[in-house]
Amino acid sequence: MNTLVTGAAGFLGSHLCDRLLAKGYDVIGLDNFFTGNKNNIRHLFDNNHFEMIRHDIVEPILLEAEQIYNLACPASPVHYQYNPVKTIKTSVIGTINMLGLAKRVKARILQASTSEVYGDPEEHPQKEEYWGRVNPIGPRSCYDEGKRVAESLMVNYHQQNNVDIRIIRIFNTYGPRMAMNDGRVVSNFIIQALKGKPLTIYGKGEQTRSFCYVSDLVEGALKMMEQEEFIGPVNLGNPVEIKIIEIAEKILELTGSKSKIIFHPLPEDDPVRRRPDISRAKKILNWQPRVSLEEGLKKTIHYFKNEIKK
Ligand code: NAD
Ligand code: UDP
Repeated sequence: MNTLVTGAAGFLGSHLCDRLLAKGYDVIGLDNFFTGNKNNIRHLFDNNHFEMIRHDIVEPILLEAEQIYNLACPASPVHYQYNPVKTIKTSVIGTINMLGLAKRVKARILQASTSEVYGDPEEHPQKEEYWGRVNPIGPRSCYDEGKRVAESLMVNYHQQNNVDIRIIRIFNTYGPRMAMNDGRVVSNFIIQALKGKPLTIYGKGEQTRSFCYVSDLVEGALKMMEQEEFIGPVNLGNPVEIKIIEIAEKILELTGSKSKIIFHPLPEDDPVRRRPDISRAKKILNWQPRVSLEEGLKKTIHYFKNEIKK
């Protein structure tokens, strides 16, 4: 199986490459290295079944592949808001390019969509049938609306051109290989705790998220790609919901850190609650997360301890 992974040098992409290679597939990775890092894939450079290409998916590319995982897109608010127009181009023009490729070479294509398509949700937990509540002109819209258009493009290429598609909606996922400057909450808190710096809670910390460990997420993505029944969308995430203040306290406990907690203003449009309803993934993919928050955090803390020493 020839598999193309866009965003291969990123957090999720690099773990997915590892998993696909372990399955015996040939993998081509594409990345423009905006938020990705060669260190995430350096261990694969000697592997004859792996090839890495520096490429921006906003530009077309000709390749042979039987499967395409389209993960390229900055995922942290800090990074996707750095150049919002580029973020939209990546989700829209980039996805058109990957769909065009899938159409030409008759590949199956999986789109990494997001819980952000639900915006700041009025329905809780979020089911796939829910259409969401996204502010189309807010600071998160370059990402949220870009991903919504990408879903629409996927479905339209499927209906109009018979492209074989899969859509997953990923909820907050964490683990080793998140960039030190990623800016998302789990990596921020762990790095702050390990360095003895204050943990920066935005708002009062009463907002909730549901955190999925990376290996669980990769398994779900793989199952979605490999099944024949359903194009999606399917929610993939861990349904255990936790307040941001609670995750700060948990990380302080697990690191044994004496760091203080400080409060910063809540960013505009920051969703108040988020938890996936994963009934569909359970039923169709026979998938559910296996790694507990404590176990996943311990592994992630271990990773960042080593990164900080470097
Ligand atoms: P990440 O920032 O670590 O990885 C994204 C990768 O895409 C990086 O290597 C980056 O350099 C690359 N990239 C960005 N724009 C590109 C472009 N135009 N051309 C080529 N490469 C480009 O983020 P991640 O957490 O690994 O996220 C991967 C995918 O999963 C993204 O599409 C993201 O939207 C989606 N997702 C992730 C989460 C999560 O919690 N991690 C949640 C929802 C959705
Ligand atoms: N957050 C925080 N401190 C940080 C980073 C994030 O309190 O240093 C909050 C953020 O405001 C949000 C939650 O943690 O309510 C999750 O943020 P993240 O950027 O990880 O993901 P997203 O908002 O996209 O779910």
